[in-house]
Amino acid sequence: MEKRGVEVLKDKRLSKSTAFTLDEKENLGLRGLLPYTISSQEIQKIRVIENIRRKESNIEKYIFLSALQDRNERLFYRTVIDYIPELLPIIYTPTVGEVCQQFSHIYRIDKGFYITPEDKGDIRNLLDNWPEKDVRVIVVTDGSRILGLGDLGCNGMGIPIGKLSLYTAGGGISPEYCLPVMLDMGTDNEKLLEDFMYLGYPHKRLQGKEYDEIVEEFVMSVQEKFPKALIQFEDFVTPNAYKILEKYQNRVLCFNDDIQGTAAVALSGIYTSSGITGEAFRDQKVMFLGAGSAATGIADLLLKAFINEGCTEQEALGRLWFVDIHGLLVKDSKGVMAHNEKYAQPVPSLNFIDAIKEIKPTILIGASGAKGAFTKEVIELMAMQNVRPVIFALSNPTSKAECTAEEAYHWSDGRAVFASGSPFMPVTLGDKTFNPGQGNNVYIFPGVGLGAMAVEAKSLPDTVFLVAALELARQIHQSDLESGTLYPKMTNLRTISFEIAVAVANHLYEIGMARKEQPKNIRTYIKNLMYDPTY
Ligand code: NAD
Repeated sequence: MEKRGVEVLKDKRLSKSTAFTLDEKENLGLRGLLPYTISSQEIQKIRVIENIRRKESNIEKYIFLSALQDRNERLFYRTVIDYIPELLPIIYTPTVGEVCQQFSHIYRIDKGFYITPEDKGDIRNLLDNWPEKDVRVIVVTDGSRILGLGDLGCNGMGIPIGKLSLYTAGGGISPEYCLPVMLDMGTDNEKLLEDFMYLGYPHKRLQGKEYDEIVEEFVMSVQEKFPKALIQFEDFVTPNAYKILEKYQNRVLCFNDDIQGTAAVALSGIYTSSGITGEAFRDQKVMFLGAGSAATGIADLLLKAFINEGCTEQEALGRLWFVDIHGLLVKDSKGVMAHNEKYAQPVPSLNFIDAIKEIKPTILIGASGAKGAFTKEVIELMAMQNVRPVIFALSNPTSKAECTAEEAYHWSDGRAVFASGSPFMPVTLGDKTFNPGQGNNVYIFPGVGLGAMAVEAKSLPDTVFLVAALELARQIHQSDLESGTLYPKMTNLRTISFEIAVAVANHLYEIGMARKEQPKNIRTYIKNLMYDPTY
């Protein structure tokens, strides 16, 4: 039976709140339930943004927006899309980090899906409880490495919720297609275990075979219940992130955003940096600080990109250097993880500073979670060795960045080409203003997801991320480069995601990875798929 009256107002998908017309008020039994004046969605949006700006802290802004999402979904997305540069840092990093840290304390309403070890053997049945029948994108985390904040257990649920909001706002994937999942395998975070308000499974983390079995059961249950769904693995500790990706990448439709999404966004920034530095892509020498999933993912994709440019594998490996907590990653380094082995160089180990002096990288990429690791000495050294040193301080949230935008520009006399993981404000030095770019994965995953959804992809080979990186690089304008940024304007996110989706879809058809019959006009087809929150 069709909903009426208060039921309509309480349904987040149906509610237009004060925007219901006179006829709708009459027909839906809403007379008397709303004030007299009818607001257009445009006016409602201005009211929302006024309310947000009145809030004093970012976490209060987040709570307000999250409540709006639960009340009037279309107004939420209209506002997020139209104010994306202002609201992205609220619904995603850096605020989402704070949200996750406080998740159990600010929890208000059920969102997303929770699976714990007690559900073993029953996960397929559990999925029947999700109200939507046709899920196309799942973002799943086990909360074991949330941003650069470590193990946040079930509190990490803020991440899948935030990322899926961006799939909708940025990629136009309808919210009913989206499912946020927390694989709550416990936590080793003592503070959380001692917190009487902690909402997660209050035990030490499940490990080894038992852990693997739950992941397997989850992935297989999804294949049965939602066979078209793309699974995005998010914020798993590095060894598990790699293990899971290797196990499932060719078996099911999935990817790991920390590894592959980060890689594509960083590669795109490296491509566009040539437009500022004038240095050819294939001549770049890259040094990473940190050898975790983000840095290794970037290196893996760069390796492919260098080979595509005509380098041999040996030459390409000679352009990729890692410095981890123990110094330069070399053959003799202790405890080299399997995913890093090929990057361990046959030279003696050096500390970070000596490694920069010796190797002379043109690009420095921080993905270490080590706040301030790009010291004045590091930046000055890079600036001494390069006319335009390229510096990526990718660690999130802002409090973990290897250096700030201001530091990078000041210490290099304005010569650094800087990008970060979390947003930084423009920096003025003398008469010049620099716009630091944000190497945010949001430039990549919504477009990749939309492309994969459009063609009902079988799986996502690594070449998809090369295609996405190239397409993102193509979206940058000369004016962006002139202001020193490596990424296109966030206000164009929907267009960027659309173009990436088209490129990805075409590529998936070319390599025979699409399940859906090829439409006559892929652009029109994808455009029509995109969710429009306007009413
Ligand atoms: P990770 O835990 O897998 O890796 C971190 C690595 O840094 C480890 O190898 C660790 O040994 C090393 N490390 C720690 N302290 C160090 C130090 N002082 N010096 C040198 N190495 C050090 O984490 P990850 O998934 O690789 O993510 C790393 C960071 O990158 C996080 O802060 C994350 O938020 C950020 N990240 C950013 C983006 C983006 O901007 N697009 C995407 C993904 C991850």
